[in-house]
Amino acid sequence: MNVVTRFAPSPTGFLHVGGARTALFNYLFTKRYKGKFLLRIEDTDKARSTDIAIKAIISGLEWLNLNHDGKIVFQSHNSIRHKNIADELLKSGNAYRCYLSNEEQNQIRNDYMKLGLPFRSPWRNKKYNNENENSYVIRIKMPNEGFTEIKDLVQGKVRIANNKLDDFVLLRSNNLPTYMLAVVVDDYDMGITHIIRGDDHLNNAFRQHWIYKFLDWKVPDFAHIPLIHGEDGSKLSKRHGALGVEEYKEMGFLSDSINSYLMNLGWRASEKEPITLSEASKIFEIKAVGKSSSKFNISKLKNINSYFLKTENPKNIINLIIRNNELGIEKYKKRIKKALPYLIERASTINDLVDASTWLKNDDYEVIFKENFKFNSNDLSLLVSFKEYLRELNIDSKIEIENHFNKWLTKENIKIKDIGKNLRLCLTGSGSSIDLIKILDILGIEEIIRRLSYNLGRSSF
Ligand code: GLU
Repeated sequence: MNVVTRFAPSPTGFLHVGGARTALFNYLFTKRYKGKFLLRIEDTDKARSTDIAIKAIISGLEWLNLNHDGKIVFQSHNSIRHKNIADELLKSGNAYRCYLSNEEQNQIRNDYMKLGLPFRSPWRNKKYNNENENSYVIRIKMPNEGFTEIKDLVQGKVRIANNKLDDFVLLRSNNLPTYMLAVVVDDYDMGITHIIRGDDHLNNAFRQHWIYKFLDWKVPDFAHIPLIHGEDGSKLSKRHGALGVEEYKEMGFLSDSINSYLMNLGWRASEKEPITLSEASKIFEIKAVGKSSSKFNISKLKNINSYFLKTENPKNIINLIIRNNELGIEKYKKRIKKALPYLIERASTINDLVDASTWLKNDDYEVIFKENFKFNSNDLSLLVSFKEYLRELNIDSKIEIENHFNKWLTKENIKIKDIGKNLRLCLTGSGSSIDLIKILDILGIEEIIRRLSYNLGRSSF
């Protein structure tokens, strides 16, 4: 099957999760049929489009690995072509010049609306006169009778009575196209075979259908996917997590997790485990996308992220953890490598891992004393004893730290619980939840001595 799809965002804001999911479904469908996935920036609305938004969309897609084929198409570069097509429709009698002022137009629209009729301009049936230089718009001449039917790959067969469709504007008085015209002309010129987009565009599809028909162009296949809603069922907004995908990156989510979560919004990607982009590319079915809207749930996203933190190559995770840390980086890297399997058990995001691993840094173990916190003299002498015991050992000793520790416990005739809490506090500052023996092993004898000396030498004790 010949497949050419496109993602066509308007660059008026960041790439939010809804847009990312549309891009994702286009991407998966394309890969499944070995087609082409194109990117078009719909920047005809110059007042609302920004370069920052364009950059955010491009880098958001890059981060998600939703790589497009070919060069990016900028819709605003095609305005002459759009105008030519409007003129062609004018010539073929499927469009007309309308000279109404805004007030006149609103008045007529209201009158027609009251009668349950679609907007028709009185200029629809007038012969236009080339002499008339007043500003005008070009409107499509919609049929008055019959139905428009669309066979949508997700919504099934949907139709609307033609007397519900306005004579909408194709070309504005400044010769710039409306969204409705530009989108059809560009999709045709780019050879788009399948239009996959949010179902808020379904109503536009009925209108766009007529532009194709009047130009004798093949209507592409449509797939209108249900929107993502917030947990409470209302339209997804920032409050529900409709943030830019890069904000999720900042929060410590992996792109695999975002993709895997988003593909499950509308399509059941897998019965068992979260799957990756490449796995999904082999099995994606647009027809298997449901018609009802899905709800965005940040806890599910976190669960998926915990899963991918464990399956991702540890090297990549470590690099993400230390990307902003320059202190003792090599030592720190080794320690994180050792600690990672334990830290990862409790983490949902990279940021959780960053927080949980601060004590591994060379200078981040200082005990934060609470006002009423004090070691009693017995605790203190035990801590000093352990430090001295280690000091007397040959640091290069190949014996595991666990053995040294156990020997020392026997020597002092105490149990781990008699020292555990205080030792953990002196070594990690915050009381990391990792098993104490693992903490000793991760830090190593030299660092344990250093930390005990530092914290025990402070006057607050
Ligand atoms: N530019 C439109 C939007 O961002 C999408 C157009 C389309 O997919 O047809 O909503």
